[in-house]
Parts: sequence; C-alpha cells; structure tokens
Amino acid sequence: MAWPTGVCQSNGEGRPATWRSIGLIVLVLAILPRPLPGEEWPVLSWQGRTMGTEYHVKIVASTLSPAEMEALPVEIEARLVELNRQMSNYQTESELSLFNRAPADLPQPVSPELARVVRLALETSRRTGGAFDITVAPLVELWGFGAKKTTRHAPPPPEDIAKALAGIGWTHLRVTAKDELVKDLPGLSIDLGGIAKGFGVDEITAILQRHGVANAYVSIAGEVRCLGHNASGLPWRVGLTAPLPLWREGDPMAAALEIVNLAVSTSGDYQNYFTGPDGQFYSHIIDPQTGHPVRHTLGGVSVVAPNNAMADALSTALFVLGPEQGLRFIEDQPSVAALFVLRQPDGSFRQLASSRFAALTGYRPVPRLTYPPVNPD
Ligand code: AMP
Ligand code: MG
Repeated sequence: MAWPTGVCQSNGEGRPATWRSIGLIVLVLAILPRPLPGEEWPVLSWQGRTMGTEYHVKIVASTLSPAEMEALPVEIEARLVELNRQMSNYQTESELSLFNRAPADLPQPVSPELARVVRLALETSRRTGGAFDITVAPLVELWGFGAKKTTRHAPPPPEDIAKALAGIGWTHLRVTAKDELVKDLPGLSIDLGGIAKGFGVDEITAILQRHGVANAYVSIAGEVRCLGHNASGLPWRVGLTAPLPLWREGDPMAAALEIVNLAVSTSGDYQNYFTGPDGQFYSHIIDPQTGHPVRHTLGGVSVVAPNNAMADALSTALFVLGPEQGLRFIEDQPSVAALFVLRQPDGSFRQLASSRFAALTGYRPVPRLTYPPVNPD
C-alpha cells in the first residue's frame, strides 16, 4: 500500500535529515508525565525512502545526547539498506533473490533476520491454514504485481495460473536451526511483500528502543508502530484510510485510532490493482488456493498487534480469509484485534470490529459509512 495510514505524520522534508540539519535543541523532558496544558513536548522527525515507498520516524521528548541524535538517522538508514539487501526481490543479488534462483534440496545460508522473517511467515501460514503464503511469488508476478511490474489489463490465461499454482506451497519451504532456507520443490520462490515492511518498522523501533527512546511513531507506507505517547502526552492518533480506489491524503478516513505501544497494519484491494475488461478489480493479494486475486465484499482490514511484522502478516492473511473466517480466526489469537471494512451493495461501507479492537484502540463503532454520501438529502 502507498502511505495511507497517518493522521500523525512526520514533518520531514522528503529526505533523511541529520539532527544537525533539523537544528532543534532537545530539552530533556522525559521525566515529566505530561506536557503542561497548552504546551507540547519537543518533536524530532524525518523521513526517507525504503522498499519502494516512504518511511517516517517521529521521536518525542527524547533523552538522546547530541551525538546520538546525529548518529541515529544514519544508523536507521544503514539498517534499512541492509534489510533490502537481505529481503528485496527487486535486487537481483539480494539473499532472497539468490534463494529464489537456488536449486531444490540445497540449504541456502541466510542472515538471522531473513531466517526470522521466513519463520514468522511460515508460522502465520500454519495458523491461517495457508491463507498467508510467501511462496505465492510466481502468481504475484503472473498477475503483474511483482518486481517485473508487467502491465495487465486482463487476467492471465487459466493454464498459466494452473502452472504457477503447481509450483507454490509454504509446506515446501523450511528454515533450518542453522538459519538456512531449503525448498523441496524446484522453482519455489518467495515474495515478502506481505510482511517485510512490518518487519522493517520493528527493526527501526528496536534501534530507537536501544537508544532509550520511549515515545515514537514509526511507519513504512501503511505499516505503523507507536511507542508511548505523542507530543501532547496523549496516545498516538493513527488514521485508517477508507477503502476507496487509489486513496490519497485528504480523502476520507475509515476510523481514527488511539494507539499506545502497538502496531497497526492495513491490507486492502484499493491501492494496488488493475481493472479488467469485465470492469472487475484485480488486486495484489492472491488467494493461494485459487491462484486468483482475492475478491469479496471486504474492502480493507486493519490489524493491531504487539509488533508490526505480526500485524502486517495477519492483515494480509485476514484479507484472504475474508470477514467471517477472518473474524473467527482473530478472536482466537491473543493480544491482537482487527477491524474489517465491508462494501455494501448500495456503495456504502459497514465496519465489523473484533471484540478486543475497541479496548486496544479507543475505536467507537460507526454504523454505516458513505463516501461520498449515497443519499446526500
Ligand atoms: P500487504 O499490502 O501487506 O497486504 O501485502 C500484499 C503483498 O503481499 C502483495 O503485493 C504480494 O507481494 C504479497 N502477497 C500477495 N498475496 C499474498 C498471500 N496470500 N500471502 C502472503 N503474501 C502475499
Ligand atoms: Mg501485510
């Protein structure tokens, strides 16, 4: 998804900035439980580019030394470059691309980070009955949503879909105790588009935490994680975009959440899709059972979870599972919750929240949403 989920956006200048160039003097205010009424804690923020999109970092009332302030954006940028070198399928020499070209049954040593993401992905596949499956890579490519970015205006031929389907399956992939990836199906390949951005947000957050940062907002596109509180000493406000085609900043929001120490991820079919000759949406989330883009009444689903890799994987999985199965699944998982936004036949939207969602996010149910109003009178 493009950068949608952000009522609390950074005020960076579109490039990674050093703290010196931001030129702010940080006051050590972290000992105050709340800023004085009408005042705000000092904020340092910047943004940059990674994984084909933007990342944003916003730090509030930190106790960082000037040297740490100088070094932190550089350290984060380096970490993101490294993550891309490990997990990108746009880089032909990344660890992931090497594995994708590797033969079957030959263990490929990878970094501990890539091994960790693949373990989490496989665990999510197991828990969701295969709805989340990082081996859908050939189908993502076939439908025109992969690294090659083939332009499509119609579905691929059924025989190509059947052939691609025969070459996928998370059960053909494993990670050894020595952090090696092994496939037992020739040609099996991985696409981490459904989980890597969330993992990247967690990695940035971990760096901030190692430097003692307690209040921060971190995002990569629609993947968001909030630590502590915002500049007003209140929960971070995170806006969920309405599932409208090619949503852009300024378009309607589905909900505004109040988040403390949680991650939020949204998956939907309205940001990355093509319209077929039949007028149908074909989106970038593939049902691994059918080999076709998921198509149902669900416009988008947002997940809150303790970390962003989990939220990211689960929001993609819930989009595949759909509202009924997805809701049943999420109610059984500890510490996570979801909000489903469903399209109604009259063009309006209905929201369906899991039982823990309101308690974790301050969400207040909205009976029915119309954008624009179906009956303006
Ligand atoms: P997200 O925006 O996090 O929901 O991720 C969507 C991306 O995940 C797609 O662009 C594909 O790269 C990848 N993907 C598509 N279908 C699946 C699936 N069923 N399981 C895992 N990843 C998928
Ligand atoms: Mg995802």
